[in-house]
Amino acid sequence: MGRVYNFSAGPAVLPEEVLREAAEEMMDYRGTGMSVMEMSHRTGTFQHIIEEAEKDLRELMGIPENYRVLFLQGGASQQFAMIPMNLMKHKVADYIVTGQWAKKAYQEAQKYGTARKIASSEDKTFSYIPDCQDLDISPDADYVYICENNTIYGTKFKELPNTKGKPLVADISSCFLSEPVDVSKYALLYGGVQKNIGPAGMVIVIIREDLITEEVLPGTPTMLTYKTHADAGSLYNTPNAYCIYICGKVFKWLKSMGGLEEMKKRNEEKAKLLYDFLDNSRLFKGTVVAHDRSLMNVPFVTGDKDLDEKFVKAAADAGLVNLKGHRSVGGMRASIYNAMPKKGVEALVDFMKKFEEENV
Ligand SMILES: *Cc1c(COP(=O)(O)O)cnc(C)c1O
Repeated sequence: MGRVYNFSAGPAVLPEEVLREAAEEMMDYRGTGMSVMEMSHRTGTFQHIIEEAEKDLRELMGIPENYRVLFLQGGASQQFAMIPMNLMKHKVADYIVTGQWAKKAYQEAQKYGTARKIASSEDKTFSYIPDCQDLDISPDADYVYICENNTIYGTKFKELPNTKGKPLVADISSCFLSEPVDVSKYALLYGGVQKNIGPAGMVIVIIREDLITEEVLPGTPTMLTYKTHADAGSLYNTPNAYCIYICGKVFKWLKSMGGLEEMKKRNEEKAKLLYDFLDNSRLFKGTVVAHDRSLMNVPFVTGDKDLDEKFVKAAADAGLVNLKGHRSVGGMRASIYNAMPKKGVEALVDFMKKFEEENV
């Protein structure tokens, strides 16, 4: 069977070029006689892989010198605890709750101090981004937290919140490397890589150096202290070596495509195809306020549960898979990450047109 168009929110589609290269190197990575999966992380060969990956990521994102890049395990969810454990010096943090992931982070932070919900869009099923230009930021907040792209609901912050001078912490799991970003506006950015970069099971943390200290909350495990990993170059213990290797290949692929400016252009084109169709459809309807629409995750509904289900099934039969919406919201969701070719989105829109004709 051939490849399908995989619209999964994550783990998600990877560039075919990367998969092919990895397959070619599976039995013998560049004359080592072994695959990267079988290789000690203490070898020069692996050292080169991780250093090259960091260098390429820094180049792609324009990460300033005074930021560290950490390749950590535990996925994005582990950061929900690691962030307060390391950054909540005054035990106060302000959270903007725009979806399930932000809500989970907010709830986890409550274990470690006073997490304040300073804005939310839960009143309208997280279908918009609240106005964040004049929020009630706590004077002693250690940071302000956002989830920049809400994977489940398909919203994205088009403008960062005004944190009134407080450090900004952002979960960028589902918009990582989808467009250029000014890293200097954040204190810490992090993302699980299985959305837009690589295989599951790793998170990349980009953190300003002055926030990496030994003064963490009492009882913080060594493994959950940023300093442990920063001091060891992400090799304190055995890292997710194969994942780092694949991520490195994706960084090279992104560079060869023209970098993040080019990815943004492509992502905008792809998203426009789908949103334009949704805006004019007699059957399908987008669920997000137009201004706050994500380029990466596009939720939509027909308004009829049975018809939604029929659509998801028929689409899968046509090779357009994983279009079912998140279990908490229902309907459909097309995740159109960097590695989803424009042809995939065109195929989806064509299929939706046909389905509409047959079912209206
Ligand atoms: C998927 C996702 C997570 C959770 O990632 P895990 O690696 O499974 O912990 C957190 N935040 C966002 C925005 C996500 O999309």
